[in-house]
Amino acid sequence: MYEEIKQAIRDVPDFPKPGILFKDITTALKDKRCFRLIVDAFYDILKNEQIDKIAAIESRGYLIGAPLAYKLGCGLVLLRKPGKLPAATIKEYYNLEYGSAALEVHQDAVKPGEKVLIIDDLLATGGTAEAACKLVKRLGGTITATAFLIELAELNGAEKLRPYAKTISLLKY
Ligand code: AMP
Repeated sequence: MYEEIKQAIRDVPDFPKPGILFKDITTALKDKRCFRLIVDAFYDILKNEQIDKIAAIESRGYLIGAPLAYKLGCGLVLLRKPGKLPAATIKEYYNLEYGSAALEVHQDAVKPGEKVLIIDDLLATGGTAEAACKLVKRLGGTITATAFLIELAELNGAEKLRPYAKTISLLKY
């Protein structure tokens, strides 16, 4: 099953800049069977965990986080690029595999003590997910796990996230 998902993900060399091998999940999402396999695989791993909310990272994290939140029956929180969320926010800066950026979340998105799963399509250096963890912790949330469709294991992102929670990756490269 995981092999079928792996086969459906397209490698795009030198995007968005030279030297980066971009893992393009659009080829897996457009396949109705594969899209379902991805969401169902996360559901099977997470169905017995206590999760109040899924915090999904813009933008590809939404594509997995939204159907998974629906299926698990929990809330969905959007971690967004700066300037997109309309109400009061908090912000964390981080370094990317290619460039630097920041994430914001609404100040009232998570209540103290709520159990939050953080999700994104891909774990590279872990900078993005670490910023997500910091945002959730600043709001008083407890991180159940960080979850990714793809982990680029050689970049040691899971190591960076270890102080926050366990990491779940469907596919490792
Ligand atoms: P990082 O903060 O280094 O773990 O980078 C993870 C974020 O950047 C995720 O939101 C990914 O969608 C994106 N990203 C980083 N590297 C790649 C890659 N090789 N292919 C696709 N997306 C990537």
